Amino acid sequence: MTLRTPVRVALTGAAGNIGYALAFRIAAGDLLGSRQPVILHLIEVEAARRPLDALVMELDDCAAPLLHDIVATTDLDEGFGDVDWALLVGARPRRQGMERSDLLRVNARIFATQGQALERAAKRQVRVVVVGNPANTNALIALSHAPHLNPHHFSAMTRLDHNRAVSLLARHTGHHAHQVRGVTIWGNHSTTQYPDLHHATVAGRPALELVEWAWYTQTFIPEVQQRGAKVIEMRGASSAGSAANALIDHVQTWAYGTPHDDWTSMAVLAEGSYGIAGGVFYSFPVTCALGEYELVRGLEISSFSRERMEATDRELRRERDQVRDLLGPALG
Ligand code: NDP
Repeated sequence: MTLRTPVRVALTGAAGNIGYALAFRIAAGDLLGSRQPVILHLIEVEAARRPLDALVMELDDCAAPLLHDIVATTDLDEGFGDVDWALLVGARPRRQGMERSDLLRVNARIFATQGQALERAAKRQVRVVVVGNPANTNALIALSHAPHLNPHHFSAMTRLDHNRAVSLLARHTGHHAHQVRGVTIWGNHSTTQYPDLHHATVAGRPALELVEWAWYTQTFIPEVQQRGAKVIEMRGASSAGSAANALIDHVQTWAYGTPHDDWTSMAVLAEGSYGIAGGVFYSFPVTCALGEYELVRGLEISSFSRERMEATDRELRRERDQVRDLLGPALG
């Protein structure tokens, strides 16, 4: 079997919850396939140096055939050096007594620095996925500091919300997730996101003919929106395995494409489609092929949907306005 040239994958927050769940799956070939060697660039802050070194030890102990090399560093230029993919997972968590706006600004500074380092060090065609929260606004900040990188290669992850919506719909209708198509997450990766079933089908039948409207509006939408908080309540920590899994799905779909009869949800730079003006990262239905995404066009939007799409858009613009002074030259 001939192996390909190794692909360099950077992972920030590598020693955190999600990073720990992700690194072993990448080493096992789950991210880019069983014939694609990878060089893992594990990036952490100085305070996490020991768990980072421990992670490297554990990865070494896997003797993983596809793991060509490991770069473990606290230096962003080394960490992003020549990378093909940048998975930006690390972010400051909200501490007690911290306002959401404080968190926004702390993380905006982190992602500004990371955008600048990507601009200096990464491959020009690098594809970037932001997971660290507030993911949509962090993606905007990072892109704004990387004027020579392709804006269409920056995204924020709403795939976990998408997967949650698919799974909940399947379970409620007595079907399997693989029989569900056409689910969309619109907007922000936050509790204002709008999980939309108007175009969804289950085993070929319109989802909204299979479920009660009251279940859709009073159970489905809030459960998807608040699923993350529910996991924290039950587990005592935020979701890590499912978040890592969704990130793998996000990258795989982007790299290798969506099925011909389905789409996925990705937060990408808005450019006016569906009435969402530019200047925010907004989750849309997209199809992917050969490493590029395209918005699904022409979906009919009901007034019910429109109201919710606008509410999550307003939140994104408020977030952006709170960090406007930290936007870089590409969008400032
Ligand atoms: P996690 O690995 O659990 O989460 C990382 C980020 O992903 C958080 O911002 C988290 O948001 C976000 N996230 C997005 N979607 C989800 C989801 N569906 N479920 C769970 N999380 C989601 O955090 P840890 O604190 O365990 O690890 C973070 C690592 O990042 C640490 O090792 C730390 O050293 C590093 N770090 C790096 C910084 C930097 O690069 N400068 C700054 C601060 C930390 P939420 O908090 O809302 O759950």
